[in-house]
Amino acid sequence: MPEKTIFKRIIDREIPAKIVFEDEQCLAFEDIHPEAPVHVLLIPKREIASVDAITEADAPLIGHLLAVMPTIAAKYGLTDGYRVVANCGRDAGQEVMHLHFHLLGGRRLTWPPG
Ligand code: AMP
Repeated sequence: MPEKTIFKRIIDREIPAKIVFEDEQCLAFEDIHPEAPVHVLLIPKREIASVDAITEADAPLIGHLLAVMPTIAAKYGLTDGYRVVANCGRDAGQEVMHLHFHLLGGRRLTWPPG
C-alpha cells in the first residue's frame, strides 16, 4: 500500500486542518504556510496526483472545483480579486502529489510568478 499523501490524511481526518469548505466531492482548508493574507487549498476528495493526471472523465469534478472557488472567495470577502494556481510537477514546485488549487488573495499579487 503506498503511503498516504498529507492531503489524503487531512481528508481522512488523521491530521488537523482549518477546513473552510467541504462537500461530497471536495475539501478546502487554509494553507499551513500562507503566501498571502488569504491562502486556501482546494482539493478533490478523489485522489488525482496532479493536473497532468487529469483525464476527460474528471472534467465534471474539475469543473465543480472551479465552481466552488467563488464561494470560498466570498467567505473571505475577496471582492477585489484573487488568484487560482495549480503547481504541476517538479518544475512548478509541486510538493504534494494530490491535485490542489491554491486560492490566494487579500493583497495585490505580482505577475509573473517566479
Ligand atoms: P504545492 O507546492 O503546490 O504542492 O503546494 C503544497 C502546499 O501545501 C504548500 O503551500 C504547503 O504550505 C501546503 N501544506 C503542506 N502541508 C500542509 C498541511 N498539513 N496543512 C495545510 N497546508 C499544507
